[in-house]
Amino acid sequence: MKKFVYLFNEGNSGMKDLLGGKGANLAEMTKIGLPVPYGFTISTEACNAYYEAEKAISPEVHDQILQALTALEEKTGKRLGDPNNPLLVSVRSGAVFSMPGMMDTILNLGMNDQTVEGMARLTNNPRFAYDSYRRFIQMFADVVLEVDIFFFEQLLEEYREQKGYNSDPELTAEDWQEVIQGYKNIVRKRTKKEFPQDPKEQLFLSINSVFDSWNNQRAIVYRRLHKIPQHLGTAVNIQTMVFGNMGDDSGTGVAFTRNPSTGEPLLYGEYLINAQGEDVVAGIRTPLPIHTLQREMPEIYKQFSETCQRLEHHYLDMQDIEFTVERGKLFILQTRTGKRTAQAAIRIAVDMVEEGLIDKKTAILRIDPDQLNQLLHRRIDDTIERKQLTKGLPASPGAATGQVVFDADEAEALGNEGKKVILVRPETTPDDIHGIVASQGVVTSRGGMTSHAAVVARGMGKPCICGCEEVKIDLNALQFSIGETVINQGDTITIDGSTGEIMYGEIPMVDPQLSDEFQLLLKWADEERKLGVRANADNPIDAQKAFEFGAGGIGLCRTEHMFMDSKRIPIVQRMILAENDAERSEALAQLLPMQQSDFEGIFEAMQGLPVTIRLLDPPLHEFLPNKDELLVEVTKLQITDPTSRQLLEKEKLLKKVRQLEEFNPMLGLRGCRLGIIYPEIYEMQAKAIFFAIAKLDKKGIDVNPEIMIPLVGHVNELKEMRELVINASLQVQEITGINFNYLIGTMIEIPRAALTADEIAKEADFFSFGTNDLTQTTFGFSRDDAEGKFLQTYIEKKVLPDNPFAVLDREGVGKLVETGVNLGRQTKPNLKTGICGEHGGEKQSIKFCYNAGLDYVSCSPYRVPLARLAAAQATILKEQV
Ligand code: PEP
Ligand code: MG
Repeated sequence: MKKFVYLFNEGNSGMKDLLGGKGANLAEMTKIGLPVPYGFTISTEACNAYYEAEKAISPEVHDQILQALTALEEKTGKRLGDPNNPLLVSVRSGAVFSMPGMMDTILNLGMNDQTVEGMARLTNNPRFAYDSYRRFIQMFADVVLEVDIFFFEQLLEEYREQKGYNSDPELTAEDWQEVIQGYKNIVRKRTKKEFPQDPKEQLFLSINSVFDSWNNQRAIVYRRLHKIPQHLGTAVNIQTMVFGNMGDDSGTGVAFTRNPSTGEPLLYGEYLINAQGEDVVAGIRTPLPIHTLQREMPEIYKQFSETCQRLEHHYLDMQDIEFTVERGKLFILQTRTGKRTAQAAIRIAVDMVEEGLIDKKTAILRIDPDQLNQLLHRRIDDTIERKQLTKGLPASPGAATGQVVFDADEAEALGNEGKKVILVRPETTPDDIHGIVASQGVVTSRGGMTSHAAVVARGMGKPCICGCEEVKIDLNALQFSIGETVINQGDTITIDGSTGEIMYGEIPMVDPQLSDEFQLLLKWADEERKLGVRANADNPIDAQKAFEFGAGGIGLCRTEHMFMDSKRIPIVQRMILAENDAERSEALAQLLPMQQSDFEGIFEAMQGLPVTIRLLDPPLHEFLPNKDELLVEVTKLQITDPTSRQLLEKEKLLKKVRQLEEFNPMLGLRGCRLGIIYPEIYEMQAKAIFFAIAKLDKKGIDVNPEIMIPLVGHVNELKEMRELVINASLQVQEITGINFNYLIGTMIEIPRAALTADEIAKEADFFSFGTNDLTQTTFGFSRDDAEGKFLQTYIEKKVLPDNPFAVLDREGVGKLVETGVNLGRQTKPNLKTGICGEHGGEKQSIKFCYNAGLDYVSCSPYRVPLARLAAAQATILKEQV
């Protein structure tokens, strides 16, 4: 018979697929002898069986649950529903990958009209017993019976008001009894049934409901966001309750073994005295920092810190631990690998190597390259004086500017329009997740460092400020106030999640700097990796940044960007509009020194590292005004000023724009085709490069240029352009009297080029795969149309697994890359190969490039550190198989 239910002493941490992350860790902790309240786990396979049977628990699973329950009863000496000694349990979901706050939890199950009396007697604390019962009714009604929690909250609020109480602890046992009657009436009214009194019925209804919660809206959104497969299912954990709300010798809390924001190796967390589990995470009462527990309960603190250290040494990673103290006794309810910011991830990995807990390779593999983006982003310029409105808890680092919104739907709508928004809420719940996704950052007026908003924002790498108590939010008026200052929806604020400051308006930001730990980790990564990392940079400033971030060269300098400068564009237009060679030569002669100075700046910044310069690629119309706008101007002038010179000029321009107009410019007159039709343009560019080399040579500065011809499909195209470049170099060598070395290569971005790479290699010193165009031409997608019109649907309908412009399509485009490398190296075994499409900065694509045998990847300067790490991971992972 297949086993669906496991007691905590029957599992271990290796059984995550079956028991879920939480269940497997509970089993592991039980195994190593930690004080875990006993219980059992219903497996993910039972969840899948439940869905296969159209949402029914099979008799087999049913029986196994009852057997486990009996074992639990024997172990604890308590029985479910026994008024004299009732067993109370929690029912929680537990998926294979942690999905914090995504699924529902039920506490105090087993409470009914009889057991509540028993609890009151046993604990000698009727107030506690009735409070627990009402919590159970409320939670069970919300999660299982789907009665809106609002009704219960409203009743409680009215009751408090009527009695003149300010807070819940003022309610007596008798008060709670009255509230319970009211709660039961709500259940009767809303469900047309009595609140279920049979604990076994309660149990099975709850289990069904946890299985159902696997497919609730917020769980689905979370899975989509984190690419967690739908078919995994969730396990259900049934665990004996322990109570943190039994008086002042009880309490509950959550703690990380190291600071999840900075990585500092100190216990970090919060607790509440006389409170039950959910009170801490829900952020309703503001909890105390964990270090004050040392004063309040010194013995417990000592035991807890030792347990934390033990768990860290056991799992060899930072842990996120939930604990409860029941009448002076410590219980560990949960441990899992703690979520952390990128900054913390790096510090922890580096510290753990230095503490001898893990090796360097493990440290490198531990950091998700995607997460590094957080650190490579801008932060508020310290030199600018900040006008702080208020300060809250610095819950997730980084800075952001955006307009204030108060509602997750609104945030999503504005975010989709491309607006930058900051979500401001009293607190967030899992239902706000889509709004957080769409925002630049989050502010909450309540809740602590482990509140929902804080945990979710840190996971997404967004700045977040919590517990900002001075912020008084008026959701009806769509505004918040801080003292006298009123901020309305739509006003712009800046938040600094590293300090907790909120400021009015937009504040200038500065470029990021890499911390010492980050530099060290990257140094380790460089020692491991065999794949080169270069940057795409078009000007000296970007080149400088690339160099600072450790790029081994420039893999792509797109020269057209130098043409777009506002001073240059009129000259470029003159060149395009030229009616004869003389006019064109004159315009080109003006452009040459401008390009030359850019090249000098880039070469100088790169200090002798290779620099790949691509000759002009885009179709010429991109340098001319927009046709529709021009047409409007011409028409206006024809009416208002029909004899003007301006009209003549505009008409001439319009004529040229029409001439250059193409049906599909992506496949039109661009790339090397331009060089063949207008050789003087490429000649000017080549000369500008060579003059720059000659000039730097005189200054004694080393340069290592690689000239790249775009969009080659046939070897003859490259052959002709190669001759042109060589001619230009000979001319410059003659004029300057200086000899220099350089390479001539091509981009492989047309399928024909990849398929005939053996031929093309005869004329090329290097290949650089332009996977942006190669993806367009392989799929036959024009990127702008595809991304704007149908790719999203393709991905939603799983026609494609990912956007192929973001993640390299390994089966199709990747096959062309492999073919290109292999054929090219048949002709020239040492042919240098790289990739310069956007995929060069994406971790999965980088792994592919390494395995395909490329020499380097090239990506935007800000992604260089990420690529260095991803390249090291690719090497380590390949060695491990
Ligand atoms: C490419 O096609 O991948 C490439 C790098 O060139 P561009 O994006 O400039 O067309
Ligand atoms: Mg291209």
